[in-house]
Amino acid sequence: MRVYLDNAATTPLDPEVVSAMTDVLTNFYGNPSAQHAIGRSAKGLMEVSRRKIAELINSKPSEILFTSGGTEADNIIIRGAVKYLGVKHIITSPIEHHAVLFTAEDMDKKGLAELHLVNISDKGEIDMDHLEQLASAYPGSLICLMHANNEIGTMVDLKKASVIAKRHNCLLHSDTVQTLGHYKIDVEELGLDFLACSAHKFNGPKGSGFAYIRNIHKIGPMITGGGQEKNMRAGTENLHGIVGLAKSLEISNSIMAEKQKKLQALKTLMMDLISKEIPGVTFNGVTTPEGSLYTVLNVSLPPNPAGEMLLFKLDIEGVCASGGSACSSGASKGSHVLAAIHQPDERTGLRFSFGKYTTEEDIRYAVEKLRKVISE
Ligand code: PLP
Repeated sequence: MRVYLDNAATTPLDPEVVSAMTDVLTNFYGNPSAQHAIGRSAKGLMEVSRRKIAELINSKPSEILFTSGGTEADNIIIRGAVKYLGVKHIITSPIEHHAVLFTAEDMDKKGLAELHLVNISDKGEIDMDHLEQLASAYPGSLICLMHANNEIGTMVDLKKASVIAKRHNCLLHSDTVQTLGHYKIDVEELGLDFLACSAHKFNGPKGSGFAYIRNIHKIGPMITGGGQEKNMRAGTENLHGIVGLAKSLEISNSIMAEKQKKLQALKTLMMDLISKEIPGVTFNGVTTPEGSLYTVLNVSLPPNPAGEMLLFKLDIEGVCASGGSACSSGASKGSHVLAAIHQPDERTGLRFSFGKYTTEEDIRYAVEKLRKVISE
């Protein structure tokens, strides 16, 4: 038996998405920039996808910029805001995905924008008072806060962050890579200026995503060449990826409520079973249904001689998970998130992450194997 509990890393493709993409690959080979009928039909399909996505996040179609995924979307937004919108300060948190953190650090190192890190709690919650202090000290900043942390699942109250951002004329970008497709996201209700999305986190294709860029923010060319994507991102569009992205987001939104109910119940079951079976276990990050992703559970294991080998042992037993130690001592590898929330180095953090194909049998099997490899 093989159990896949690494859905925060990536998810298997939905067969309906495969079918939509196969149709494009087979029948819509035209270049969307071409003037002729075959090109126009490809362009038409791309714009239908854009409209569908815009509708799902309550934006305008012209605010959707197709990218190769979350990393590129984060880069275009952060670098674009610094290059074209006069941003001189970036406020972010120490537990952001590296797509945000390294990009912001790069802007800082090059002297293009100064980086400020907001304080977080040991559960990964943003200190909103500190955010307010930073925003007030550096009005006009770009604030980058991920909607939910990909390693520990702690969620950010984006509405609160956007009130603070607006009060100090700041722009708000949220990396919603771990929440789009799992939670209803309305850019107006949340007051976002930008967001980043990646299709492969919700049963869509790898290498496809988008950046939401509010129309009032005029970002110029980020990749130069042709005039595609309103001149911001040159290059012939990845049409099958775009269609797969729109299809997977559409399907995800249509099953969201039942998926949330099912996966929240499985997460709770896994927490209960693990707490019973493994002495000394704790959970990293917030674990309440309101404050954390229902797709992610980060287990903090008491010191074990196997250390990070536990992951390999689980793999041998047929369980795919991910994780690691904090390594705050500065060793080359380790999780910057676990280090920032002060997980002790000697404990191992294992991330189990769930998707729409996860079953109760998977959970029970994984816990049984976890208990086995720990007691060996
Ligand atoms: N942001 C977050 C929070 C993620 O979890 C990931 C993927 O792991 C990314 C960004 C990068 O997305 P992509 O793989 O589409 O570049």
